[in-house]
Amino acid sequence: MAYSFLTHLECSYCGETYDHRETHRTCTSPECGKVLFARYDLEAAAAALTKEALRGRPANMWRYREIMPVLSAENVITLGEGFTPILPAGRLAAFIGVPDLLIKDEGLNPTGSFKARGLSAAVSKAKELGKTRLTMPSAGNAAGAMSAYAAVAGMEANVFMPKDAPIANQQECIAYGARLELVDGFITDAGKLSAAAAEERDLFDVSTLREPYRAEGKKTMGLEIAEQLDWSVPDAIIYPTGGGTGIVGIWKALDELEQMGWMGSARPKMISVQAEGCAPIVHAFEAGDEFATPIEAPHTLAAGMRVPSAIGDYLILRAIRDSGGTAITVTDAEILESTSEMARFEGIFPAPEGGATLAGLKKLVERGDIGRDERVLLINTGSALKYMDVLGPLFEQ
Ligand SMILES: *Cc1c(COP(=O)(O)O)cnc(C)c1O
Repeated sequence: MAYSFLTHLECSYCGETYDHRETHRTCTSPECGKVLFARYDLEAAAAALTKEALRGRPANMWRYREIMPVLSAENVITLGEGFTPILPAGRLAAFIGVPDLLIKDEGLNPTGSFKARGLSAAVSKAKELGKTRLTMPSAGNAAGAMSAYAAVAGMEANVFMPKDAPIANQQECIAYGARLELVDGFITDAGKLSAAAAEERDLFDVSTLREPYRAEGKKTMGLEIAEQLDWSVPDAIIYPTGGGTGIVGIWKALDELEQMGWMGSARPKMISVQAEGCAPIVHAFEAGDEFATPIEAPHTLAAGMRVPSAIGDYLILRAIRDSGGTAITVTDAEILESTSEMARFEGIFPAPEGGATLAGLKKLVERGDIGRDERVLLINTGSALKYMDVLGPLFEQ
């Protein structure tokens, strides 16, 4: 029986197909350049893996290996990422008056954020494709995750990071043995330097959605949500959006599960939360645009959402629109308040990005976009412990 039922890569925009046994990053069709998706023989995958067999598998994201991109078990680089709990948030639910409130706590992943999922998948696939030297621009958690997986895989890691990234993210890269270069600029500037280094030194650039496999790791959040809720979906999923790999991945997962016959056509409203100082997706959603306009000088304390332009903007906007969802901004003050509330009411000290989902929920209920009777899932994408330097105001008594 095949380990994975990966069949090919397909451009998510123009439909051009590519051989998955070769290295491809984005679509190379003239004037396209968009995001490539991994495609599988889902019928065969569904025949090979039953829901019963799944129950006996290890509690990490590789339990879904039939619809993951790694072809051979020996190439899987894992630190036990995934299968994080979905916790009922009863006290917070009572506090804000939305009784059926759930939090998926991604802060429990290796390296303290859900970036572990994407990088476990991408580093594993890079190994399978024979790569040994990686590079990445990152505003924070992705770099830490890449460095950790590169360490256990015995690969070289190069990180280009804006110098205002949280201290913990800078330090963890060094601790994991990566080469860290601090950049005087934004994530887009770091991206240019990383791309240049990739060219000059033959490094494999694992920037988000600029290679097809990080999204496959993040897709497992969607698979888990369905499995953990007994093959149902909540009414709404609120997601703190930066590059958008997570929201795009969750949406892809639900689609694949339906094609496998494991779920019906019911979908959650996919809701994007962004910071007021960096909200390209919210602006594009409100304007009815297919693509987002880059933000000139992005600012928010939530580093993971400080992404001024995303190559997958059209995919994020598609997921939001096709699901009947919406997009909303929150201020840094609102993020801090909600970060503190999640800690005090639920014992979950979230990354500010996770706090932003709660801040968004409160506004969405007020705005009437979410009904009080709806089942709402917040994704806390990381742990606050990596943001101590930027969460200062929370520690004044
Ligand atoms: C990267 C990151 C985000 C944004 O995730 P995308 O999938 O790129 O939109 C949100 N929260 C945290 C903690 C992050 O590290």
